[in-house]
Amino acid sequence: MTPLLRRLLMAFHPVAIIHAELYTPTRRIEDGTVVFAEGRILAVGPSREVRLPRRAERIDAHGRPVTPGLIDLHLHGVEGYDLFGEELAEAAQRLPRHGVTAFVPTTLTLPEEEILRRLQAMARVMETAPPGARILGIHIEGPHLSPKRPGMANPTWFRPLTPEAIARYQAAAGGRIRLWTFAPEEGEAMQAIPALVAQGIIPVIGHSDATYDQATEAIQRGVRQVTHFFNAMRPFHHREPGLFTAALLDPRVIVQLIADGQHVHPAAMRLLFQVKGSSGVAMISDAAPMAGLPPGRYTWLGYEVIVADGRCQTPEGALAGSVALMNEGLRVLIEEVGIDPLHAVRSATWTPAQALGLRKFGRLRPGAPADLVLWARWGVPEAVWVGGERMV
Ligand SMILES: [Zn+2]
Repeated sequence: MTPLLRRLLMAFHPVAIIHAELYTPTRRIEDGTVVFAEGRILAVGPSREVRLPRRAERIDAHGRPVTPGLIDLHLHGVEGYDLFGEELAEAAQRLPRHGVTAFVPTTLTLPEEEILRRLQAMARVMETAPPGARILGIHIEGPHLSPKRPGMANPTWFRPLTPEAIARYQAAAGGRIRLWTFAPEEGEAMQAIPALVAQGIIPVIGHSDATYDQATEAIQRGVRQVTHFFNAMRPFHHREPGLFTAALLDPRVIVQLIADGQHVHPAAMRLLFQVKGSSGVAMISDAAPMAGLPPGRYTWLGYEVIVADGRCQTPEGALAGSVALMNEGLRVLIEEVGIDPLHAVRSATWTPAQALGLRKFGRLRPGAPADLVLWARWGVPEAVWVGGERMV
């Protein structure tokens, strides 16, 4: 039997994970069982209540956690592979070993012709549906950003968002753009928001210096998400409460949070969970392609970066993405920030799925895709399935 044939057969074979600490993640089941076959979850519940199919392969979790697969809305690469271009296929194969079963590959600020070329390459990869983690669409991050909040990006390439740019990018990407991070206060960008919504793209504020009034207007026009909250945005001030306050006060807005322990202080993370709740915070990795590589000097799409002490920085000291993936973020939230595991898991699975409007993803319930992780301990995946197919 070829390995491919064996993998296909395994996907149709019922699997039961028994005696797990299950995170559905709307609730925690202390001694739980989850059964799946043909890529879908068949049953979830307390082990004494779930009937196992006779021919099911049984995996005893011995009380270890089982969660939906992690969903990353914002990352640039992994293990030396850049998601922004043809290496997307290799990167997708490497993500399950970090507990990630679905993701939205994210672009970077470059000259427009280079961005369009790379979007075409990504669209070609997505057409082939490569093995590994599911690719849920493309996230545009740059060049429609504020020169006042550039992060690592080169502001000489920044442009205000326009409906014409949306059409050009979406054409190059074959209609696959799902998230678009931009600064609504730049140029006429505020007026371009309906054009994003009309194309099925979720407008995301980020790298923005928006005031409270500007952010409130952007939300009224359809913005529903904030890119890496706290990082590269106007901070809180009690007389100009800013995008910060507009996003915290509106329950329709989901905020992304980099939980690598480097970008945001643990107390600020606790504050965010207290104010928004885990259904309003989507944990992201913002991983750079150097995530998973040893410390050293690297070039990332022409940007020089230094990886040392758990950080990825430009020589000027701006953080340039993270070197931790979602599994590490989950561990940090639980073990260092003190977020209840149920809520930490929710922010890494169900909330990002909701942020994309994917009702069936990010949860363990009958009919949902069989994307799940059995954890040796928090941060360390022991077994990972995507669509019922075992990847790790
Ligand atoms: Zn960014």
